[in-house]
Amino acid sequence: MRMRTKEHDVIIVGAGPVGSYTAYQLAKRGLDVVVFERNPTIGKDVNCTGIISTECYKRYNLADEMVLKPIQSISAYSPSGNCLRYQAHAPFAYVINRNMFDREMNRIAAGERATTYLNARVKETAIVNDAFQVTVRIDEEDMEYRSRVGVIATGFELHQIPGMVSLPVEHFYGIQTDVSIKDVNDIEVYFGNQVAPGSFGWVVPVGNNSAKIGLLVKNSPSEYLKSFLQNPFVAQRLGSSAKKIKCSPLPLRRIQKSYGERFLIVGEAAGQVKTTTGGGIYFGLLCAEIAADMIMKAFEKSDFSEKTLSGYEKAWRKRLDPELKAGKILRNIYSRLSDQQIDLLIDLAKRDGVFPVINKTDFDWHKDLISYILRHLITKKLLRK
Ligand SMILES: Cc1cc2nc3c(=O)[nH]c(=O)nc-3n(C[C@H](O)[C@H](O)[C@H](O)COP(=O)(O)OP(=O)(O)OC[C@H]3O[C@@H](n4cnc5c(N)ncnc54)[C@H](O)[C@@H]3O)c2cc1C
Repeated sequence: MRMRTKEHDVIIVGAGPVGSYTAYQLAKRGLDVVVFERNPTIGKDVNCTGIISTECYKRYNLADEMVLKPIQSISAYSPSGNCLRYQAHAPFAYVINRNMFDREMNRIAAGERATTYLNARVKETAIVNDAFQVTVRIDEEDMEYRSRVGVIATGFELHQIPGMVSLPVEHFYGIQTDVSIKDVNDIEVYFGNQVAPGSFGWVVPVGNNSAKIGLLVKNSPSEYLKSFLQNPFVAQRLGSSAKKIKCSPLPLRRIQKSYGERFLIVGEAAGQVKTTTGGGIYFGLLCAEIAADMIMKAFEKSDFSEKTLSGYEKAWRKRLDPELKAGKILRNIYSRLSDQQIDLLIDLAKRDGVFPVINKTDFDWHKDLISYILRHLITKKLLRK
């Protein structure tokens, strides 16, 4: 039996924060937008610490009740337990309730009349007869939808959709759990090859003697988390055993190409995440704005060709590439350091007046701090020793 096909201006695949925010941006400018989300609810089982910068918090005018904890201080621990602590005069970041945030992004899209279908998994995408076409599984039935342009905002799972990128992207695993814990006020970051080789572990307070504890690693995430929870700095303050553990892949680099004839790829699906920390909320939302501007231009010209849509990639790479590249260089060098070298690095940073540089560094934009660490600490001092 032939499937009935429904037509819209824009189809968005994925109602994470980036998909919903793109929907909001386009619907408020008058387009007929439909969003497909495979989960039965928005924000279901999200695996995220929920840290966003003050810049992001203000830009999106987030409600106070979404904030679990404002963050004003950070403590970085070397492998031997040497601590570099930074205390700011005002919050530089916020831990937000990710579930509530995702729902809010979708609510504002709905307020502009974008329609979201839940329990709607997109099985296939294709460009057919001058349209972006998807096959969606809704209520045990396959349906076909067409639009003039499509936006893929599926998070890391992009490569699972036939017709999209087929190669698995180089990635880390982000593993995390919620715990009850005493005496945590700062964001705590732990370095060292025992904790997370080439990366870091974290304890992030979320209020009421609770925290999110997690780490980023390339292999064996469960083993590393188990050992991190037994780390004496952490274990002695733990009040209860870890609750549900969540683990998901996080891209380590952007994809080669984030556009094609009649479609754009945004958010984590395109690798729009910080190469230093894996944070992807803010970069994804900024790119959603760029994608929406590009799509509006395409509608004005009635031109959805690959050539026209390539402007999206040029624009977002201009904004993010310097950051992504700097982060990648730091990560490559850092991943080769021994525990002794990391110890020395933190010691040097403490003695060497890194604080004025940190004071001038924005929470989202790390390029200047990275270039200081590379030029001043690693190359001049650490590697010479
Ligand atoms: C442990 C961990 C901690 C993190 N902490 C932070 C942090 O503190 N700060 C920060 O900024 N970032 C953090 N991140 C990254 C952040 O969570 C992501 O960058 C962000 O969720 C990306 O948003 P998105 O909308 O692009 O994708 P997602 O949030 O992944 O949303 C994609 C949506 O698409 C849906 N979908 C997928 N495939 C289909 C399909 N075929 N059909 C229909 N729907 C589909 C999914 O169900 C999902 O709802 C963390 C990540 C991890 C793993």
